[in-house]
Amino acid sequence: MGTPKRPHDEMIYRRFRDALKRNPQPCAIDGCDRLADTVDHMPPLAAHDHLEGSACCVLRGVCAQHNYAAGGKLGRRRQLLRSRTSSVFMPSPPRNYPGPSRQW
Ligand SMILES: [Zn+2]
Ligand SMILES: [Zn+2]
Repeated sequence: MGTPKRPHDEMIYRRFRDALKRNPQPCAIDGCDRLADTVDHMPPLAAHDHLEGSACCVLRGVCAQHNYAAGGKLGRRRQLLRSRTSSVFMPSPPRNYPGPSRQW
């Protein structure tokens, strides 16, 4: 043990990417008219503790430009507003957040 699989080595990820090559589909980002040629995790890997097989996220096809841009900023705000799944962009809850202080 000690060598966890990288998300991009997962079978489901490879199959998804394979399917994209065979059956190109439009980028999942609303308002984008490019073809999806890369696979993206939703929510982003950086935003959750990914665990293979736990259904912690879904795969979606996005164009390379959006996939590589997804790490930091999340695209144009206008696109977010139009997205019906914008709730998945919710930030993760703070960890070890101190409770309300009553000392004052
Ligand atoms: Zn995940
Ligand atoms: Zn796109």
